[in-house]
Amino acid sequence: MAEIKKALTKEHGFPKNYSDEFLILDKGEGVYVFDVAGKRYLDFGSGIAVNALGYGNKEIAAIASAQMEKLVHVSNLFTTEPALKFASKLVDGKRFSAVHFGNSGSEANEAAIKYAKLWSIRTKGPECYKILSFSGAFHGRTMGALASTYNNKYKEPFGPMIPGAEIIEYNNVEKLKESLNESFAAVIVEVVQGEGGLRSLSKEFVSALNDICRKHKVLIIADEVQTGMGRTGDLFACDGVGLDADIITLSKPLAGGLPLSATLIPDYVNEKVKVGEHGTTFGGGPVTTAVASYVWDMITGEGFLEGVKEKSAFLTGKLEDLKNKYSFIKEIRGKGLLLGLEIDENDRVDVLKIMGEARDKGLLLLKTGVNVLRLAPPLVISQDEIEEGIAILDSVLKELKQKL
Ligand code: PMP
Repeated sequence: MAEIKKALTKEHGFPKNYSDEFLILDKGEGVYVFDVAGKRYLDFGSGIAVNALGYGNKEIAAIASAQMEKLVHVSNLFTTEPALKFASKLVDGKRFSAVHFGNSGSEANEAAIKYAKLWSIRTKGPECYKILSFSGAFHGRTMGALASTYNNKYKEPFGPMIPGAEIIEYNNVEKLKESLNESFAAVIVEVVQGEGGLRSLSKEFVSALNDICRKHKVLIIADEVQTGMGRTGDLFACDGVGLDADIITLSKPLAGGLPLSATLIPDYVNEKVKVGEHGTTFGGGPVTTAVASYVWDMITGEGFLEGVKEKSAFLTGKLEDLKNKYSFIKEIRGKGLLLGLEIDENDRVDVLKIMGEARDKGLLLLKTGVNVLRLAPPLVISQDEIEEGIAILDSVLKELKQKL
């Protein structure tokens, strides 16, 4: 603990919505990051599910640096070869006919909501602008995406949300049947709720969403900001569960840690959009898209996604062992390498305490929902590294159990 203190700071110029204390990280290598005092941490958080290919990837650095020397920014008044190349990977001409690039998950969802509204208002009429989302949902902090986010803590301080954002219970088929009608432009949904506690869509709910949305001509937006690009073992999580998404939003792992987002839209939406109705200054610049093409090729490359599924099975087995050992672990949730332990919290065991002790022992973990420990390691993690992380977590849980 004395050692770690050297790399902690309370002196920062960030606003009070952030933690009062920060760990200052200095560099990364593979699945490890190092703080400014030189202490090494195994990262089971990947910078909130971003660093799919880990840290210190030489290819990424070389691609970004070569592109930086050539051309950094042109705006959306022009385009570049890296942007065209990456767009052609995302847009296959069948399912999706266009991609809108942005810089963050929130922006990807803002774009999705705007495109869905354009489509709906121009197809069904001006009153058909509503957006349905679900309990536990997290879609972002900008005002549009925020309105469809569930947790009131993020919304209440900011006054009225945009009109027409309605929220019903996740996985409740009856409520869906009662609530959905033609006045909705779209439903926005996560296959696994990354921030809201790692609950997953049930089979029944997926099939009800597919049927009821078709019936009422309501678009399905799959928010794959956290689940997309292999995190759940499928390229897109919606395909893994048979969710018939019209629009997919991607961001976190898309550009190897650089800010980039993509909103994939089909032809029937794209044909309703007119020049100048949406845009961005930075989105889809040449540096981020050049890196994104490389990341895409790696993740869609032979054996990569199978590897994620194998690692997921291995990690799940290890988490099951922990659950059998510690009665305060209630449930294991999630999919792929987005897994969590629901903790039965009491005054001695809580998720933040587990995270703090783990950090001191050299393992970084995330929290999700109220009481769920989230594990989202880089997708390139090895079995040995998984075992190393589990051993640290086990020792933390053991000490907490002894104090009970
Ligand atoms: N949607 C989902 C599912 C997310 O997990 C997040 C971020 N955690 C967002 C949207 C918002 O992304 P950003 O913070 O990049 O705006």
